[in-house]
Amino acid sequence: MRIAVISDIHGNLEAFNAVLEHLDNNADEIISLGDIVGYGPNPKECCDIIREKRIYSLCGNHDVACFDDDLISYFNPYAREAILWTRSQLTDEYISFLKGLPFEDILHSFRIVHGAPGSPFDYIMTSSDAIEAFASFREDICFIGHSHIMEFYEQRKGHPLVRQLSLRNQQELILEEDKRYIINVGSVGQPRDRDPRAGYIVYDTEARVIRAYRVEYRIDIVQRKMQLKGLPPILWERLELGR
Ligand code: ZN
Repeated sequence: MRIAVISDIHGNLEAFNAVLEHLDNNADEIISLGDIVGYGPNPKECCDIIREKRIYSLCGNHDVACFDDDLISYFNPYAREAILWTRSQLTDEYISFLKGLPFEDILHSFRIVHGAPGSPFDYIMTSSDAIEAFASFREDICFIGHSHIMEFYEQRKGHPLVRQLSLRNQQELILEEDKRYIINVGSVGQPRDRDPRAGYIVYDTEARVIRAYRVEYRIDIVQRKMQLKGLPPILWERLELGR
């Protein structure tokens, strides 16, 4: 089975559509790790696609911030401004859809969570974060998003040390039986690893191979929409820089 894992769409419809088109015939199932909305100009349309295509999606911190005032207080001013705008776009129906999304799950024997196992909104950014994270779940593989950086961490079973390695376009990662992995699938709608192309991975469960992909999309169209909707310039300027 080939499972596409996507994350952090962030209301970027052009990037989302480009990824869906690219993975067509390339995946039997799609899983989303959350942050469907926030930052981008098309939160409703991105939720509509998730529902229409019955994509199983987790809940991210931006999804929660659409209905939870406590969470919004942790956001920087630009993210907060974008969430307040996003809230103004979403009817009760969309809010209850977001409220219904789970935070963490185990599917086909791997774990999925937006941020970190057991702490959905914590970041795994360093090998010491990953050492702590590996100790907190049992499965061999955990897929995460949240940092918008496509990379992976590997740990030989029974050994404490962790290696942190980047994942690039077209890279194949062959999973070894005696290792455990935390795989950050990057971001569809707002990559921050200096590659502005939309990112996602496909996991071939039989071959035990992860393939990483980066897909070009019309960044200029998204930037124009964000400009017209009055979203903070820093949020649309960063899209073409991938940071
Ligand atoms: Zn995010």
